[in-house]
Amino acid sequence: MTVTRNIVDAAHLRNVAIIAHVDHGKTTLVDQMLYQSGLYREEELTKLAGGQHGLILDSNDLERERGITITSKNCAVTYTTPDGEAYRINLIDTPGHADFGGEVERVLGMASGTLLLVDAYEGPMPQTRFVLQKSLERGLKPIVVVNKVDRPDARPQAAVDEVFDLLVDLDAPDDVLDFQVIYASAREGWATLNLDEPNDNLQPLFDQIIGQVPPPHDGSRMDDPLQLQVTTLDYSDYVGRVAIGRVHAGVVRRRQKVQVIDPSGSSSSRQISQVLAFEGLDRVEVEEVAAGDLCALVGLEPIEIGYTVTDADSPVALPSTPIDEPTLHMV
Ligand code: GDP
Repeated sequence: MTVTRNIVDAAHLRNVAIIAHVDHGKTTLVDQMLYQSGLYREEELTKLAGGQHGLILDSNDLERERGITITSKNCAVTYTTPDGEAYRINLIDTPGHADFGGEVERVLGMASGTLLLVDAYEGPMPQTRFVLQKSLERGLKPIVVVNKVDRPDARPQAAVDEVFDLLVDLDAPDDVLDFQVIYASAREGWATLNLDEPNDNLQPLFDQIIGQVPPPHDGSRMDDPLQLQVTTLDYSDYVGRVAIGRVHAGVVRRRQKVQVIDPSGSSSSRQISQVLAFEGLDRVEVEEVAAGDLCALVGLEPIEIGYTVTDADSPVALPSTPIDEPTLHMV
């Protein structure tokens, strides 16, 4: 079944990468964002989570039941502001530590801003330093979310000071040092800009994402020929390789004939069989996805990370992402 979904103009799109140390509350926060944005009822969330810790960010139920490994952990939240404007927020998961092979670079390449999620007791952890550093190098400005402020042992101000020191250490520019702080209890489902002003929902977080994260810069290229670089790959028993990336220019359509260009520059003709969009925790088949937004494409095998999918008549490759050479490794 193909879902009819309107193309979201770039002004109403936000691509945000979440940087968080394991256990600082990423899954809980994303669950609450989905729940409060009204996309899923609580029972569905509970069912989807299946009581299994950390699985809610994964793809869909069916795949989980069949035990297929899901590597891409993006999801999309539709948030409507109090004055009725609807925004799509693509939440992009990042590896919780340094990695090899450019994965961090590629994943961050889809985002225009970051959420740096920090436990109010533990403060920022060294393992997230590498990802944060890479995000700063890409010019991504973090919104700092100090989570678990409900903890009796929370020390939110100390956590903020440690984030500041870490950013100074990473040579962050002044506008980054002037970061926005949001205090949150993901577990209780609320966020506030000021600890003296308690709240009962996550609206300040949504509002900061919409206000602080720029719309995708390539959204203005909607009328250009299609270009998309493959950022991640998934595999499904039914359809084989699924190529995931952000549409850099143009519009990608179901059944579109395309050229696929490998990093050596050689290209070959293919036809896209399915275009999938991220919708809540699921992927849905759609007719088209436009510049600035993320999608998953089926039918392009053989395909690898770093290949560019282009317009059939105007095949121009995107520059390949440099490979990371991390100095800090998993702890
Ligand atoms: P992730 O590894 O970053 O995805 O972290 P989870 O969302 O799985 O949370 C890790 C643990 O922290 C779980 O036991 C959560 O219930 C708990 N947790 C998450 N958010 C909060 C919060 O706001 N307050 C408190 N007290 N615990 C939280």
